[in-house]
Amino acid sequence: QSNSYVKKWTKEDIASTLPRRDRFAHKGTHGKGLLIGGHKMPGSVVLATKAALRSGAGLITVATEKDTIPIIASHCIEAMYEQWNHFIINRNDVQRFDAIAMGMGVGKEPFSKDIMNNLLEQKEIPIIVDADGLTHLKPLLPIREERIAPVILTPHFGEIAMLSGKTISEWKRSPFFLAKQYAMTNNVYIVLKGKFTIITCPDGTQYVSDTGNAGLAKGGSGDVLAGIMLSMIMQNQSITEAICNACYIHGKSAELLVESGQHTEYDLLASDVIDGLSQVFRTIF
Ligand code: AMP
Ligand code: MG
Repeated sequence: QSNSYVKKWTKEDIASTLPRRDRFAHKGTHGKGLLIGGHKMPGSVVLATKAALRSGAGLITVATEKDTIPIIASHCIEAMYEQWNHFIINRNDVQRFDAIAMGMGVGKEPFSKDIMNNLLEQKEIPIIVDADGLTHLKPLLPIREERIAPVILTPHFGEIAMLSGKTISEWKRSPFFLAKQYAMTNNVYIVLKGKFTIITCPDGTQYVSDTGNAGLAKGGSGDVLAGIMLSMIMQNQSITEAICNACYIHGKSAELLVESGQHTEYDLLASDVIDGLSQVFRTIF
C-alpha cells in the first residue's frame, strides 16, 4: 500500500488559485475549447458545453456528427459547431484550441481511430478523455513521453476497471495505490470519480476532493464535470489546480443546491448542477 501524503483540496486552495477575471478581458483571454462527442447521446455534450460556458470559458466549439449539430445547437446557442470529420481532413486545425475534451456520448462502437490518434499527436494541447472515449483511448496507452501537454482521464470505478483489467472490488480496496500505479505507468492524470474523487498526477502526486452528495449519483453528472474541467484548463491555471478546482466546484454546486433548499438529493439533476455554478463562484470570490 502507498502511505505517501495525499492533499485534500479545500475552499482556501480554490480561493487562492482560481484566476480572477481581468477587467480588460476579451473572449480570447479566457481560452478556446473544443468538445468532441455526442453522436450517440447528444445530451451529454449539451451538459458539458453548458457547464464549460458557465465556468468562465471564452469560446467553446463542439465537434460532432452532421445530423447531431442541430440537436445540440438548439440547446447551446453560445457555442460554435463543426462536423468532426473536419478535424480529420484538416488535422492541424485542432491547433487553434487551448484544450480539448472528448468522449462524452460517443458510444462504445468503434468510431474514429483517426480522430483519437490525431488528438494525441497534437503534443501541446491538453486533452480530457471521458466516458466511452476511454474505451477508444485504451489501445493507445501508455501516452508517449514526447507528448508535452497532459492527457487527463476521468473514469468512474467501472471505467477504470475496464481500462486497467482489474476488478471494481480491487479498485475499491486500494484506490490510492492502484491509481498511482496506473497514472505513473501510463503517463496520464487520473481523476477517479466517486463519493470522494481522487486526483493522481503522472508523477504520482495525489489530491482528494470531497465535495458533492448523492444527488450527483445520476446520469449526466460526469458530463458536467468534464465541461467544468475543460473550462478550468483553458483558463491559465496549472493543470493540477485546474483539475482539483473543477472537482471542487462540481461537488460544491450540488451541496449548495441541497443546503439552500432549492433541491434535494432525490430531485437534483445534472442540469441543476450547471444552474448552481453561479452560487459556487459567488462563495469563492
Ligand atoms: P459519472 O459516473 O461519469 O456520471 O460521474 C459522476 C459524477 O458525480 C462524478 O463527478 C462523481 O464524483 C459524482 N458523484 C457520484 N456519486 C456521488 C456521491 N454519492 N457523492 C458525491 N459525488 C458523487
Ligand atoms: Mg461518465
